[in-house]
Amino acid sequence: MSEREENWREETLAVRAGIARSQFGEHSEALFLTSSFVFANAAEAAQRFSGEAPGDVYSRFTNPTVRMFEARLAALEGAEAAVATASGMAAILATAMALLQCGDHIVAARSLFGATQQLFGAILPRFGVTTTFVSGTQLDAFRAAIRPSTRLIFVETPSNPLTEIHDIGALAELAHAVGALLVVDNCFCTPILQKPLALGADLVIHSATKYLDGQGRVLGGAVCGARRWTEEIHKFLRTAGPSLSPFNAWVLLKGLETLPVRIRAQAANALELARRLEGHPKIRRVWYPGLPSHPQHALALRQQLAGGAIVSFEAEGGKKAAWRLIDACRMLSITANLGDVKTTITHPASTTHGRLTPEEREAAGIGEGLVRIAVGLEAVEDIHRDLLRGLDAC
Ligand SMILES: *Cc1c(COP(=O)(O)O)cnc(C)c1O
Repeated sequence: MSEREENWREETLAVRAGIARSQFGEHSEALFLTSSFVFANAAEAAQRFSGEAPGDVYSRFTNPTVRMFEARLAALEGAEAAVATASGMAAILATAMALLQCGDHIVAARSLFGATQQLFGAILPRFGVTTTFVSGTQLDAFRAAIRPSTRLIFVETPSNPLTEIHDIGALAELAHAVGALLVVDNCFCTPILQKPLALGADLVIHSATKYLDGQGRVLGGAVCGARRWTEEIHKFLRTAGPSLSPFNAWVLLKGLETLPVRIRAQAANALELARRLEGHPKIRRVWYPGLPSHPQHALALRQQLAGGAIVSFEAEGGKKAAWRLIDACRMLSITANLGDVKTTITHPASTTHGRLTPEEREAAGIGEGLVRIAVGLEAVEDIHRDLLRGLDAC
């Protein structure tokens, strides 16, 4: 494949990068729905198993459809390589298992996806890998948390649900000064709006379940970065098992084709919605990186192409008002998922962040009246009208 040599632009990479046609010359990428591959003879089997001869053996190791998805995503992230996983959490687990050992330490932002917090805070410590969680986005707080054993700095930017922005370039410098790697979960922006590797990060994590699929159909994940790391992660996957299924890879490959168009349109919808909601008498505050009122608006514009498609706001009247608002919406889907072309609405305090104690939620800034909107592709007028109906009811 010579797609990188062609200097294709992003829109072209999204539809053409990574294509490997079979002998039939199919135009649409083939779905190799097979668990294993056949060898011409015993000698070839031996050579492929040992790695002496190239070629697929078993789909827990490699699969042509999965490989096409990996190549296309790597091209979009500007990564040397990508490795696909069964889910976003599998990508994070595989990264930790492949690159860390007992005694190693992680510095992570406190505002992380709930399952990532659980993995770092409750599961990895059983294997001797500990994490210091840092509140807020101050670089000094990250610096203070670093120990001689620190191997990874891990952040999501923008964060969920308050869209905190972490300075990727500054964190990369900090990590590299102590011989650690910076890992960025790029779920909210996707490579179309933000390229963490170009800003200095070492690895990019994706929950492909979100915007990369974009239509809420499959689970999937990936890690992108230098081949020396992705190869280690792949070694863990092929042995331990959380590999991406060929069917899901095929759905995600199709998802990537429309990613540039979708995410830009969803971000434009989100900006317009955030503008319309800001100043509403029943809304105390709106969080959206694309608004000048966002505390890190300037940093967001420096490292992102747009504010993304997640808008959060604090309704006057706490949980009661937020629940009434959500229940009065007729169109928006009440679901914790995000990244879908259908707009979703969530009450973080009682769902995604429900396991935190009230004090922990307070420390994280997750108010009882907070509502998160993952803006989709419907007409922004219709999304706004549905929310106004909700605001009228609360
Ligand atoms: C959903 C999500 C994950 C986990 O991904 P799954 O595909 O659900 O395993 C990780 N990080 C972020 C930011 C997410 O939104």
